[in-house]
Amino acid sequence: MLRSTTLRVTRPRLAVLAAVHEHPHADTEAIGQAARALGDVSHQAVYDVLRTLTDVGLVRRIQPSGSVARYEARVGDNHHHLVCRSCGAIVDVDCAVGETPCLTASDGAGYAIDEAEVIYWGRCPECAFEKSE
Ligand SMILES: [Zn+2]
Ligand SMILES: [Zn+2]
Repeated sequence: MLRSTTLRVTRPRLAVLAAVHEHPHADTEAIGQAARALGDVSHQAVYDVLRTLTDVGLVRRIQPSGSVARYEARVGDNHHHLVCRSCGAIVDVDCAVGETPCLTASDGAGYAIDEAEVIYWGRCPECAFEKSE
């Protein structure tokens, strides 16, 4: 994946990219821990690499309101997310209908729209179950 970009392949980049692959929607802290398990990557390097990978489009950054930034390696398909209000669990949701952008604005105001980002808020099954008990 790194070779498909203009980025040099470095060990911190490989470690962080692998960590994002293994832990979709993880935050910087969790990615840092996973990356450090794979190699010697400093805290600052994790931040820098995540920013670089996001900039070149190998990693997507999502930030539900009230949450820290999360990262994932599933990019370019305009998928959406379900977020649990109670525990913060995040799940992927495929494009609502058809192709990117899957949502048609009621009034695009003349913009050439190429992406729609939707967050469905609610409670995950576990949290909904606990509440009903
Ligand atoms: Zn939950
Ligand atoms: Zn996702």
